[in-house]
This record gives sequence, structure tokens and C-alpha cells, in this order.
Amino acid sequence: MNANALLFAATLIAAPALAQNPDMGRDAFRDIYKEIVEIDSSQSTGSCTNVVRAAEKRLSAAGFSGTNLQVVIPDGKPDDGNLVARIHTSNAREKGVLLLAHIDVVDAKRADWERDPFELVEENGFFYGRGAADDKAMAAVFLDLMIRLKQEKKFKPKRDLILALTCGEETSNRVNGVDYLIKNRRELIDAAFAINEGAGGLLADDGEKHLVLQVQAGEKIHQVYTLTVTNQGGHSSRPVPDNAIYRVSKAALKVADLKFPIEVTPVVREYFRVTGPVLGGDIGAAMTALAKNPEDPAALATLTNDPSYNAVLRTTCVATQLDAGHAANALPQRAVATLSCRVMQGTSPEQVQGVLANAIDDEQVKVEIYRRRDGSKPPPLTDEVMKPVRAAAAKLWPGVPVAPSMTAGATDGRFLMTAGIPTYGMSGMFSVTGEANAHGLNEKIRVKSLYEGREFLEMIVRRYVK
Ligand SMILES: [Zn+2]
Repeated sequence: MNANALLFAATLIAAPALAQNPDMGRDAFRDIYKEIVEIDSSQSTGSCTNVVRAAEKRLSAAGFSGTNLQVVIPDGKPDDGNLVARIHTSNAREKGVLLLAHIDVVDAKRADWERDPFELVEENGFFYGRGAADDKAMAAVFLDLMIRLKQEKKFKPKRDLILALTCGEETSNRVNGVDYLIKNRRELIDAAFAINEGAGGLLADDGEKHLVLQVQAGEKIHQVYTLTVTNQGGHSSRPVPDNAIYRVSKAALKVADLKFPIEVTPVVREYFRVTGPVLGGDIGAAMTALAKNPEDPAALATLTNDPSYNAVLRTTCVATQLDAGHAANALPQRAVATLSCRVMQGTSPEQVQGVLANAIDDEQVKVEIYRRRDGSKPPPLTDEVMKPVRAAAAKLWPGVPVAPSMTAGATDGRFLMTAGIPTYGMSGMFSVTGEANAHGLNEKIRVKSLYEGREFLEMIVRRYVK
């Protein structure tokens, strides 16, 4: 069979399903998306539980009930609701697949926005609204998919499919739903692996050309340290050389000069290999060179010069706060510098503490872990996870490479990875770098990208449970 005939045959086979459902119920999906974007779930003026109730109503109408539809509201936090829904398979031989999306959003002030942040506005090919991208796009896609799959007579998954819509990703004042579920109701969301936010795809600046599909596999861990110096102080009219502020400042300057060792992880190496040729230029060439030889000094120099690439090549620590002294006319009795460290997976908080203490090399500076997060392992890029991704990418965006990536920031994936559930960030929703302005003003997503992502996620989810 030649290529054309093959294509023709494929069209014939696909035709009945497509004819029945040409856009996979896009209007119904849009309705779900609109509803949840328009429910304010920000910390100061909104409620996650309102989103949860709206989702519960739809899921229940679609046939979810009992243990397969659970609303989990932490004690004393009526607005921090979470929802877990499950398409259960009896006699499944493998653990299920978890679809995770957070439903809380960052605060949005109406006065600062060009449009009402809690109204879904479609304009110039974009959807605008708080959460339109982060993360209600994925929440709506997963919710709509669960509903359609539940109602599809022929859908016979080989393993469970679990949806978790959770609160508290954006602010630490709220109970983090994933953390809460892991600690209190692990059985609800335990899974072989999870799909989460964290990566989409890169569009060229023209907004048309798809450059790479990204899959986030791993993220750095945020550990917070303090450097503390105490001193007996005294009257500021009689200065002495030993001053807590000077001492902590010297320590902080040593941290400024400290460079943690380079670690080219397999994921980052693969990211550079795929992205280098697409980006081109000096950076692209350096990526390609480093993918070939992870010790290439020139390539390392170019890439570590760029804050974004430096951040994925090593642990970093930076001073973010200073708190010192108690009166303008007194020698300081205490000075504290706070360090925000973004630690590579596989490095313990104590190891970083040791490196800091060594570099500072001053016994009077106490280096302490101020807020400790457990370490986790980066998720492996298994065929089970990646094959369906590559197949879907080849179909939707022929010729566009798949680049796994590690992010320097953190998502809820950290709780799952720490609990031993490998978590991959992928939405299939492409954007021009920075255009979504998630967390910022006038958050938006390309209409086309949202629908493409929806198609992509459906394709991979169907394969994962097949
Ligand atoms: Zn998010």
C-alpha cells in the first residue's frame, strides 16, 4: 500500500467516529470551561469548594457516584475543597492513572484588568480570564473527558482512571489538596503515574509554527535556609569590629560567589538535544554541543550565563530576605539572612546545608534549614508514558519534536513524586514564551491551543488505560 492509500484507509476507518462526533463535543466542553473559569476560586475573594460543587454536579449527572465521586474538604477550611472522581475497572492488573489539575487561582483585581477576570472572554483568538490557562484549562479538559468517557458505552479501560481537582496550589495560606489527600486519603489518588500541569509546547514568535512539545519530567525542590549571627550588641556610640550585620553580610556574599556543581541530568540533556536545533543561534549551538558532551566547557559557559538554563543545570541558592538589628542606636544582637535554594532532585537538604556551611566557613554563622521539603526522584521517561505522547504528537503536529524538560519552579507534582508517584507535566497547549501571563494581568490562552491540548490529552489518556 502506498502512502496515499494508507492515508485513505485510515480516513475510512476513522470516519464513523468522527462523523458522529466531529469536534468531540466542543460546545459542551466550552460550557464546562466557561463555568469553572467564571467561578472565583482565588484565595481572598473566592472558593475552591464552589468549583468542586459545580464539577460534582456534572459528574454526578454523568453517572459518577458513591466511592467513585468524593468531595474532600479539610476540617475548618470550608473553601479549600477538593474532588476525586474515578472510572473504576474491576480486575485491573495495574494501578490507575491520575489526572491532576489545581482549581485555585491567584488573586485578580478587577480594577487592574482590562476585562473582568472572572468572566471568560474570547477575543482575537484568545480566551481571557483568571485561570484560563493556569490551571483551569487542564481542569476543564480532564473534567469533560471523564464525563464523556463515563458515558461512552464502548469505553472499557484496563485500569482505573482517576481525576483529582485540588485546591491550594497557588498560595500557602490554603490547605494544599494534593498534600492533604496523600496524607489523609491516599487510597483515593494512589496511581501508577500522574499527568499534571508544568509543560505545554513552544510556538514560534509568529504564534503559528509549533516548535517543540514539552513534557515536564521532574522539578527542583525549594528549600529555605537561614544564616543567623547573634552578638552581645551594645551602644552604637562605641562600635566594635565584631558586628552581626557585617558578619552575616560577609556570609551572604560568600553565597553569592558559590557555584554548585553542574549536573546534566538525562532529562535536561535530552531537552538540549531536541531543543538546540530548533532554537538555533549561540544558545541552540551550545545546547547541541552540551547534549553531545555534558562537560563541554564553552557550551557550559554559554548556557550557565543564561539564568533560565543555569537554573536547570545546578542547584542554586540566593539571598532573598534580611532581618537584623533592633534599634537605630544599638549594635545589632542578631542578623538573619534568608536563602531560597532550588535544589536538584536527588540532592538532600542536608547536603546543601553542608555545602553552604563549607563555603561560608565561619563558626559564628549558623546555617539552618528553615523550611525543609522532602527530596524526590525525577520521574523516569518510560516507554509506557512517552510512546503515547510521541504517537499523539506525530498525529497532531507532524515533525514537531518532543522535548522532556525539568522545571526550576515547583508544582503539586512534588507531593506526588515525594510519595513515589511519578508525575509528568504535559498539556499539549502551545504558546509563545511568556504570553499566557499566568498569575499576572489579563491571563490568556490561545483558543486553538486549548482545543489542540484537549485533543492531545484525550489521545494519550485513552492510550494509557487501553
Ligand atoms: Zn498552576
